[in-house]
Amino acid sequence: MMPVPLDQEHVLAVLAAVKDPEIPTISVVDLGMVERVEVSESAPRLTVELIPTFLGCPALEVIRGRALHALVEAFELDQSDCLVKFGLSRPWSSDRVSAAGRERLRAWGMAPPPMATVAQFVEGSIAVACPLCQSLDTEVQNLFGSAACRALYYCRSCRNPFEVMKPI
Ligand SMILES: [Zn+2]
Repeated sequence: MMPVPLDQEHVLAVLAAVKDPEIPTISVVDLGMVERVEVSESAPRLTVELIPTFLGCPALEVIRGRALHALVEAFELDQSDCLVKFGLSRPWSSDRVSAAGRERLRAWGMAPPPMATVAQFVEGSIAVACPLCQSLDTEVQNLFGSAACRALYYCRSCRNPFEVMKPI
């Protein structure tokens, strides 16, 4: 079988299958983590720069490892020819989560990050729609959910608790 051509399009297709270890329906592409893809004739032939989501999130090293493994396999590269690194040139923002990513979060039962500032979110002045029934009749239960990047909400309409990915 011919190896997959090593170009930007195919690299992104491979990365679209690299999921967040904590949210199995969403990929590093959906999260807007892919900052740069560089293909070169000399080593390393492929360099991928990712933007870390929530700094200090223990999942980051897992994500990097999975991305590296997937790329090495797909393009039949030597480990030394594939570099996956985190760039800190600019901060990740929850606005980078793609429309498809927001839909996948909802389908998984988590509200996507509201388009709001952290301050607005903490104040509770923004309406967060329930991912299960779309009602806006929701209230915050705990701003610090099961992970630093999530808050816990409760829907008064369908009486279900749900998690929200925090804006950042
Ligand atoms: Zn609901």
